[in-house]
Amino acid sequence: MAISTNQTIEQFTADAHKFLAANAESRESQKAFVWGEGSDNVSMFEERSKQSEDELVERAKKWRQQKFDAGFGWITGPTQYGGAGLTNEFEKAYNRAESQYKVPNQSIFQIGLGMVAPTILAHASDEAREKFLRAMWRADIVACQLFSEPGAGSDLASLQTKAERDGDEWIITGQKVWTSGAQYSDIGEIICRTDPGLPKHKGLTGFIVDMHAPGVEIRPLRQMTGGASFNEVFYNEVRVPDSYRLGEVNNGWGVALTTLMNERASIGTSSGGDVSAFTRIQAMVQHFGLTNDPIVREKMADLFIRTKVAGYNNQRAMDKIRAGQTPGPEMSIAKMALVENQKRMNDFLCLVLGSKLQADTGEWGTYSWSQFLLGAPGMRIAGGSDEVMRNIVGERVLGLPKDTGIDSKSAFRDIKVGTQTS
Ligand SMILES: Cc1cc2nc3c(=O)[nH]c(=O)nc-3n(C[C@H](O)[C@H](O)[C@H](O)COP(=O)(O)OP(=O)(O)OC[C@H]3O[C@@H](n4cnc5c(N)ncnc54)[C@H](O)[C@@H]3O)c2cc1C
Repeated sequence: MAISTNQTIEQFTADAHKFLAANAESRESQKAFVWGEGSDNVSMFEERSKQSEDELVERAKKWRQQKFDAGFGWITGPTQYGGAGLTNEFEKAYNRAESQYKVPNQSIFQIGLGMVAPTILAHASDEAREKFLRAMWRADIVACQLFSEPGAGSDLASLQTKAERDGDEWIITGQKVWTSGAQYSDIGEIICRTDPGLPKHKGLTGFIVDMHAPGVEIRPLRQMTGGASFNEVFYNEVRVPDSYRLGEVNNGWGVALTTLMNERASIGTSSGGDVSAFTRIQAMVQHFGLTNDPIVREKMADLFIRTKVAGYNNQRAMDKIRAGQTPGPEMSIAKMALVENQKRMNDFLCLVLGSKLQADTGEWGTYSWSQFLLGAPGMRIAGGSDEVMRNIVGERVLGLPKDTGIDSKSAFRDIKVGTQTS
């Protein structure tokens, strides 16, 4: 169904509710959260078997396809690439409507639609935009982010995966690591070294790479929570057409920054699932008879206020993005606030649950929080570590001098890798 660009918000919202009522379950009909009932899963990272992950991916794609075909899949996107061409107000109206319904988990699209798609829109050739954007927003394909390497994380500009030109194609060889969701992705955004004779930030180029191409090998990495939501990805002479290049040759640093800014936005503003963590801990405190404990009350109120303030900061930042402004250091602040609040939440859980977090007694809603605790350190690193976020705020908000260890003048091939930071 095509959405008219002349319609009013009221008409649009009524159509959205009509679509949602016909295809999703209203939250009104859902029972309120009751301690001890339903799932007590609060894990931060997905801990699924292959079969349950496949089912989740299928459900997520089916919902997104239905939504796209009804005209609500990419509300603010340009019509020439499959978007509805409407303003942010329409997107907000749809999101408000959808929040009243229970829809399948959409986390598999966070990287592709939150980070890779905006980069393709900003930097890809027309051919690549036409080929990938509609397909991504309709969930016909899923995308991942191929930046980090064993020797290049915070210091991303030290990456060594190389791309060499061969006529109208490029040949990619190297290794990426920590690639979330590579196991169910069809394409990836990769940053490669294309000229080691240039300074480290200058000889890089971005590409869109087919994850099913010959020469791509994906190996799962198991994390301390037990699951394997990210991977090592090896490239052995993988061919990519020049039309899949992102931006100019050797301008990959600018391309990577577009993605990283959107990454901080999507991590800083990610939501906490079906039942809010607060609803759960409120019920937990009541269950354990701690509502009159002065320390529990004080810490819980503190947590609530901090989460609210972070939420308002995120809302301000997201409004800036929706208004077409480039996300800036406020995204680093949003990310820092999120992980700081998670840390405080963990301290609170330790206070209330104590040893119940360490040994599984089978008691509902207690040991399950250990998955949340074990996932939190990963969030402090993903999308830029705490220390790197503080460096960004120090330099770009407080105007402090730049980190001193950066050699931005020598040719990359002359720098001893591992001797400096970025
Ligand atoms: C859950 C999760 C998901 C991820 N998903 C992806 C993904 O999909 N795609 C992808 O490409 N990558 C992904 N990553 C990788 C992530 O981007 C890197 O882990 C991150 O950039 C840090 O790099 P590193 O692990 O190499 O650590 P390092 O850069 O080696 O850092 C080690 C330590 O040194 C500190 N440090 C480094 N430089 C400085 C400095 N200049 N000043 C002060 N301290 C410094 C860091 O804060 C950290 O404590 C993911 C990581 C996690 C945890």
